[in-house]
Amino acid sequence: MKKYKHLVVEISGICNAKCKYCTTGIKNINNIKNGGVLSKDDFIKAIDYILENNFFDKENGQLELFSWGEPFLNNQLNEICSEVSKRKIHYRLSTNASVLKYLDNENIEYLDDLCISISGFTEKSYKKIHGLDFNHVVSNIKKMSDHLRNCGYEYKIVMNFHVYQFNIGEIELAEKFCEENKITFIPHVAYLADFKYFNDFLLNKMDYKIMKEASQELMLGIFDDLNEKFDEKYICKQKNSLILDEYLNILPCAFLTSNNSLGSLFEFKTVEEIENVRESVKECETCYKSKAYYLVNQDKYFLYGYKKPTNKHLFVSPHIYINKGYGYSEENTLYDKNMSLNENGVITCKFEIPEEVISVRLDPIERSKCFIKNINIADENGNTVEFKPINGSILSNKNNHITSIYFDNTDPQIDIILSKKQKPKMLIVDMDIEKIL
Ligand code: SF4
Repeated sequence: MKKYKHLVVEISGICNAKCKYCTTGIKNINNIKNGGVLSKDDFIKAIDYILENNFFDKENGQLELFSWGEPFLNNQLNEICSEVSKRKIHYRLSTNASVLKYLDNENIEYLDDLCISISGFTEKSYKKIHGLDFNHVVSNIKKMSDHLRNCGYEYKIVMNFHVYQFNIGEIELAEKFCEENKITFIPHVAYLADFKYFNDFLLNKMDYKIMKEASQELMLGIFDDLNEKFDEKYICKQKNSLILDEYLNILPCAFLTSNNSLGSLFEFKTVEEIENVRESVKECETCYKSKAYYLVNQDKYFLYGYKKPTNKHLFVSPHIYINKGYGYSEENTLYDKNMSLNENGVITCKFEIPEEVISVRLDPIERSKCFIKNINIADENGNTVEFKPINGSILSNKNNHITSIYFDNTDPQIDIILSKKQKPKMLIVDMDIEKIL
């Protein structure tokens, strides 16, 4: 029976920023009243209903407490995170860092990352998009990072630097700041984060004034490149997520808003019922026509310059599952505590393989999509060991060996093919891996 591995609960539909290419920012700029805030009690009702009805795979899934709003504007943020943590659910937060709030220590263990979106690293650039107080935001980021570090967690803050034409020269400044403050730095190309804007753009219907500004600020050319790679067989991956707005209505996808609600969460008893309603979302027709559904889900391409997180050790935890005849289980899982990272960003980990092993699976990262380059697996004598992704796409081969793989899911798995004649005593895995947010 299908369970969603990606759950989104909007705990604050309101936002204080004025990002001009974002659905909520557009409403703020035009003074359109927008959004509410989810109370802790309603959150509890929703999460328990979701778990009782088996909508969500709590063990392997991840919860995002944000969609279009600013979750730090919810006064019960810590109480909600506490309810998430009590239920041992891994979760993410995102913020513009304009509101300073510290997460309680006991709420940090299950926090996978706290993503901070920033649209430049000078007051001039930042004002153009977010419109908030840049110095205040930077000071808050530093304080939040210090707090997490004091609680024993470095690099849980991820700076998602939105790259525009006007802030390319500021990327290094932001990166340096992140290095100094032990923050993971990931630049992404900014895009039209609004269903209407993006579809209008792709269908050549965009308002001239908006189009002119967008062409001067965004890197719209990337969409032509992506369109060339369009795959007819691609299925919108949004259908694998369960998205709730702050009123606990189910939305068709994270690209749409409360105006497109499919009904209250509590009207649905099974995943099948939700799936049936999602079959006939009229906005999907527009999306298929414009191919927006393909482009909006290709976030791997939006990475700017494939910048590597400096804290790869901490964010990536490759491990292998050993099957001794009883299948794979958590008890038979190996990690390499001495994993190393070289100056080219390649990690190396070594695993001793017990004699009685039947099969081995490598999970390169936990709860995240990823892009792997330059992967090589060898035995203790340096002989190549063959492998194949179980649930990822092979992007390139060299001399008949796989060299890069893309995993468009949050549970990447690689099957390691053991030679029947001579089983390795050790597996040495080298790879250059990018976590994709
Ligand atoms: S096709 Fe478009 S509107 Fe439909 S679920 Fe996917 S992203 Fe959303």
